[in-house]
Amino acid sequence: MDTPAASYDAIVATLAGLVNEAEAALGQRGTVGVGIPGTISARTGLVKNANSTALNGHPLDRDLGRALGREVRCQNDANCLALSEAVDGAGAGRRVVFAAILGTGCGAGLALAGRPWAGPNLVAGEWGHNPLPWATPDEFPGPACWCGKTGCIETWISGTGFADDYARAAGVRLIGEQIVARARQGEAAARDALERYANRLARALAHVVNLLDPDVIVLGGGLSNVDELYEMVPAQLANYVFGGEAETPVVRSQHGDSSGVRGAAWLWD
Ligand SMILES: [Zn+2]
Repeated sequence: MDTPAASYDAIVATLAGLVNEAEAALGQRGTVGVGIPGTISARTGLVKNANSTALNGHPLDRDLGRALGREVRCQNDANCLALSEAVDGAGAGRRVVFAAILGTGCGAGLALAGRPWAGPNLVAGEWGHNPLPWATPDEFPGPACWCGKTGCIETWISGTGFADDYARAAGVRLIGEQIVARARQGEAAARDALERYANRLARALAHVVNLLDPDVIVLGGGLSNVDELYEMVPAQLANYVFGGEAETPVVRSQHGDSSGVRGAAWLWD
């Protein structure tokens, strides 16, 4: 369902309604795990960092738990993606799985040894709000980001960032799928935008490799469906990783759009 983005209460009611419908259809009661944009602060117990900004400042796990009459586990959606892919997806059998969602925004998270790894500030893996590395003069200071900074990786490699970049160069606003289709048809502006996108993604992921050197990098979200990226990005990764070697596989999530939801279910043993 579309998120009723304007109203927190409507989001809680929608989620509770979906659980009730599923349980009515199945005739049994289950555990509930939820993947959310952002995370629930350990300090305040309230959602922070969500680009669905209606969630910020609310105790979603407690409110949904009250609506459903049971404990609810919430985890960042990119951590859920990493968990799902680590358990039985594209990262199965790998100890350190870094997963990024290249969608409207750019969330990212980690699974270590088959469990989500959030860290004490609950931001582990969230490199989308680091600055774009090796920025060229024309990329600096970069677009304003909703987080309050400028030039965040998200403003370049999210689907929105890709569309913005094409619009700045071509003077026409298209969605990512249309730009990719035009690139395949040979339109120069679209091909250039895809080249710039792959190069920026390679730079951004090289930072992840230098810091963490994960066993696998899994991509999810709308742009993860662009086949060309799995050639273009690995081909450039080693140009940026310290030492010039990058054996790290960059792969598409195995469970697609359902992967984050599967990971949320895996929050319960
Ligand atoms: Zn940002």
